[in-house]
Amino acid sequence: MDLGQETHVKDQALWEQALAATRNIYARLPPGCATELDGLIEEIMRLKQNLVELVIAAGSANICQACGGECCRYGRYHVSVLDIMAYLKSGAEPLTPDFSANPACPYSNLMGCTMAARFRPMTCVVFNCQQVEDLLSPLQMQIARGYEQELRDAIGRAGQISGQRLDRALLLSCCS
Ligand code: SF4
Ligand code: SF4
Repeated sequence: MDLGQETHVKDQALWEQALAATRNIYARLPPGCATELDGLIEEIMRLKQNLVELVIAAGSANICQACGGECCRYGRYHVSVLDIMAYLKSGAEPLTPDFSANPACPYSNLMGCTMAARFRPMTCVVFNCQQVEDLLSPLQMQIARGYEQELRDAIGRAGQISGQRLDRALLLSCCS
């Protein structure tokens, strides 16, 4: 097995271990905390959806398609523990990564990102390259900044009520 193969086999094992640990944490949250966290996750999903829809409405789709996802390279640490909890809260099966795709993002395929907009990592939904930013009007920029701030606040509150850093990278979450 060469080094590249060893790395993606190791990442796959880490992913499975961290996924099981996250399922366990989520299932064992005290009832009051679980209800509050679920409410925040709903809000987080809504804000992520809004951010993605905003740039699509401004015309980003063609530019991103032509680019092929330069900003999605090396995305394997982008998915957080909280991102997986959004799948669990929604009763949806978490995504299946492909770590052999490195340096392409393991959460993408030939069609692009395999995650629905509402589940995408925060890093992915708040970043726009200059080409995409240039499409946004001053009002759209202002709205996007507002959504981003609300999103960061909601993620921070989710961490506070659970008493854990839920925004840490899923792949690193079992190492500390
Ligand atoms: S945001 Fe920019 S870098 Fe990322 S996929 Fe779109 S055009 Fe490419
Ligand atoms: S998770 Fe999706 S949006 Fe984020 S870097 Fe990977 S392919 Fe791109």
